[in-house]
Amino acid sequence: MIRLGILGGGQLGRMMALAAAPLGVKCHIFTPDVDSPAAQVTPIVTLADYDDQVALASFAASVDVITYEFENIPLASVRFLAALKPVYPSPETLAITQHRALEKNFINECGIDTVKWRGITLFAQLQALRQEWIGQDIILKTCQMGYDGKGQVKIPAACPDDEAERSWQELAKYIGGRPEFEGSLPPLIAEAVENFAAEASVMIARNAAGECQAYPMAENRHRNHVLAETIVPIRPELAPPALQDQAQHIAQTLAEKLDLVGILAVEMFLTQAGTILVNELAPRPHNSGHWSLDFCLTSQFEQTVRAVSGLPLGGVDILYPAGYDASNSQIIMQNLLGDDLDHWPHWLKHPLAKLHLYGKGGKMPGRKMGHVTRCEKI
Ligand code: ADP
Ligand code: MG
Repeated sequence: MIRLGILGGGQLGRMMALAAAPLGVKCHIFTPDVDSPAAQVTPIVTLADYDDQVALASFAASVDVITYEFENIPLASVRFLAALKPVYPSPETLAITQHRALEKNFINECGIDTVKWRGITLFAQLQALRQEWIGQDIILKTCQMGYDGKGQVKIPAACPDDEAERSWQELAKYIGGRPEFEGSLPPLIAEAVENFAAEASVMIARNAAGECQAYPMAENRHRNHVLAETIVPIRPELAPPALQDQAQHIAQTLAEKLDLVGILAVEMFLTQAGTILVNELAPRPHNSGHWSLDFCLTSQFEQTVRAVSGLPLGGVDILYPAGYDASNSQIIMQNLLGDDLDHWPHWLKHPLAKLHLYGKGGKMPGRKMGHVTRCEKI
């Protein structure tokens, strides 16, 4: 029996542990959170801080292989664990994907396009960039710890200097109040705002033998910077088959260059000109892959367990209910954010919908409380 350690106790860890059970893989969750969604579904839990080396060492001793469901685990802790047991995806992959400047640099070095971007350490650099990119709206982002649009601020081209400085100060709060951060890596990046035609993603899994499986390209609709809905496969009017192939090829290139073992989410912008820009990477299951739990031969969670455990990968064909197929229907995953949770009984009455609730206590606005995936005629 394979014993899998999972760092992080959120809904991704919960769904991974549930997917591991049918493969006979026994999961051990490491989380600092009391009553985490993952700990509700598996009895083996270490409740400790991510930098507690005593707890990390005994966690490592109790498992065969370690993965994570959340990329903001301190890198030093992941490196500490990697000296004791295999950690997949590797600490090198995590280091790149934890830092937006390293990540964008890596993507560009693979010959893959992103929006224009620049590492920023000083307000004067931002001002100089505004001069250089005259007329260009900018998004300033913290390089680390951002998620669901947190740690980002938009600076329109027409914004006066004093307002730009206030936005700068606003973001400085996220980097410990030190706007003039010191260190070898920039704490912030400035990106050109892309007036994209659509957002999309490809999930790709790869195991240590180098076997790869790319999931169908998904269309993602965000509201307030948070994923609201995913449609699979992406509608051909947004991404014709050749572009879908190209997106999967990009994901495969990134997975191979990272020497990925595990799963990688590749978030993309589709430009008005019909090209692909990679937005960001996540080396773990991703919200835009949740549809695969109910409408795919192998879910992204099972696939992650297979990939990190050294097992063969599973097929990724979309499973349609009888009478439904790609020509007449689409798969729609909808997040239940905050108060959306109250509508969950409605979804149980829907004949082609599958409901997942995450067992979270606090129902805050915009918080991911669950999701529902349904098949619908076009
Ligand atoms: P995170 O998901 O970590 O919060 P992202 O960089 O993916 O950070 O940004 C969240 C969302 O904000 C994106 O999905 C997109 O809708 C929007 N966004 C981010 N960067 C840009 C950009 N350069 N141009 C246009 N929209 C952007
Ligand atoms: Mg994102």
